Amino acid sequence: MEVDREAAGFFVNSKDGVDDLIITPMGQNLFDDASPGLNNFLSIGQYNRENQSFTIGNTVYSFTKWFHTHPGANREGFGYVDPSSGDKNASKYFCLDGLIFGGRGGIGAICSDGK
Ligand SMILES: [Zn+2]
Repeated sequence: MEVDREAAGFFVNSKDGVDDLIITPMGQNLFDDASPGLNNFLSIGQYNRENQSFTIGNTVYSFTKWFHTHPGANREGFGYVDPSSGDKNASKYFCLDGLIFGGRGGIGAICSDGK
């Protein structure tokens, strides 16, 4: 997992039972702000918050978790695994548990209720 720059996305199961990972484009993101990339991704498909499914074209994916990275292990103030308030809000919005991959090597977790 690249953690020098921020990345975000979703762990998914397709209807075919194939596990996959969708990583959203993050080029325009600032540190510790996953929103633009995720919003861009969500804008190309249709996310159903009631059953955590996402449709692109004719393919329906079941989302199991979302994630993003807190990059910058060598920059003071970045790289930690504690979720920001925006991260907690994202988990509540998606109704999904979230994972944070810190640039210092740790993994943080967020419950779907934002706690
Ligand atoms: Zn974050």
